Amino acid sequence: MSFSILSNNLRLDSEERIDLWHQTVDAIERYVVNVDELPVQVLPEPSVLRERLQAFDFSTPIEPSVALQLVTDSMRSMQTHVSHRRYFGLFNPAPASVGILGEALTAAFNPNVAAWSHSPFAVAAEEHVGCAIGSRFGEAFKWGTFTSGGGEANLTAFLCALTYRYPSYLKDGLRGLDREPVAYVSAASHHSLVKAARSCGLGSGALRVVPCDETLGMDLAQLRSAIAQDRAAGREPFVVVGTAGATATGIIERLEDIAQIATREHMWFHVDAAWGGLAAFVPELSSELRGIADADSITFDPHKSLSVPMGAGLFLTRHPNILAHTFAVTEDYMPPKTDEGERLDPYVHSLQWSRRFAGLKVLLSLSVAGWDGYANALRHQTEMGNLLREQLHAAGFTVVNDTPLPLVCFLREDATFNAAETAERAVQSGRVWISPTRLPDGRSVLRAAITNYLTEPSDIAALVAEVVNSAQA
Ligand SMILES: *Cc1c(COP(=O)(O)O)cnc(C)c1O
Repeated sequence: MSFSILSNNLRLDSEERIDLWHQTVDAIERYVVNVDELPVQVLPEPSVLRERLQAFDFSTPIEPSVALQLVTDSMRSMQTHVSHRRYFGLFNPAPASVGILGEALTAAFNPNVAAWSHSPFAVAAEEHVGCAIGSRFGEAFKWGTFTSGGGEANLTAFLCALTYRYPSYLKDGLRGLDREPVAYVSAASHHSLVKAARSCGLGSGALRVVPCDETLGMDLAQLRSAIAQDRAAGREPFVVVGTAGATATGIIERLEDIAQIATREHMWFHVDAAWGGLAAFVPELSSELRGIADADSITFDPHKSLSVPMGAGLFLTRHPNILAHTFAVTEDYMPPKTDEGERLDPYVHSLQWSRRFAGLKVLLSLSVAGWDGYANALRHQTEMGNLLREQLHAAGFTVVNDTPLPLVCFLREDATFNAAETAERAVQSGRVWISPTRLPDGRSVLRAAITNYLTEPSDIAALVAEVVNSAQA
């Protein structure tokens, strides 16, 4: 019998490993220090990508240091740098340093957060930080689970709402129901809710997309009449989703009013606060989320607003047993279930099974920044948003969205203005990243979100200058 364990690059000795760590740390440090000098976006031709990938030939192993060099060079030169201070884009923050370290530790210790018996610290730490974040939205939000992101959290919300309303759903699915269940979202809500409706068996046909009113948020009169029509037709409204911080416009819908309608109609009230939940971390903004404390469940993404690396989402709920009820299963190969209460096995209350320690980077970032550190960082981003509004106004643009959050939608009211072309020219300059979007009322506008806690007034001025240039070109 022969053993071939040594003839591979999986087992490294300590010296080799430390050299590779140094190489990695140097590459990360160089990136973090000078990302602002790189063009914000560089997109290669697909043929260039194909050629680059030829270097990864799995029949001829390459040296680890060469492989690391290849991937770091490729990521430096072939991606949109969301950590750039002039990336005014989607909700992808620059990850704070301890969050990056947390990711490395998560990978190295690799605790499996499926079972308490395997990772008691990780399980308890996620509960601790999840519960602390939940308390920002209301004392009731003591239960929840970390998710891969907002998409999984929204699916979890639909699954919990179905289970809560229809105990037979777990066994018989939707086939067992005598009335067709209906879910209400708005034209401003995120498309992950469409996927959620498909994935839980509702189908997108069971999703009522309520139009928005002049606030660019859900039109409540239309919500009421859609519910009444569905009831009259023998269907059953069971969940309504309010969005706190719409992806396109940053609008916070009227959560208090939606909560009232949900109560009156005996519907589950879910708030999608994937990004806009940041308002709960800034004392003077928290009242903007009025009504969120009445939610049955909340989606909140630390990887969008708390400057941690992807992926870290949270599903939070006021209902103590609903997650365990929705996801509980038993498996003989899993370690025996430990006692209820203090030693919960996360695999029985989450969609995922083997699960990475997503909460570590959040725990680390929150513990070194503290609530005040986050309040300061997010307040700063909000101030940069206000500065952007002022400067756009001075440059002759019209801001069209009314939100306290740092997301500005704007246009220039003249016939030659074209949002898509302006954005494209600005992005091609490499100096900023900004995108066009369409409002619920159909208007094309430019959209700029401040997601980086390092963005400064000089970056705002650079954005405005770039947009003025690109709009005229
Ligand atoms: C981004 C976003 C989501 C989806 O979250 P992911 O973390 O990307 O899965 C859901 N809802 C809203 C409002 C969002 O902005």
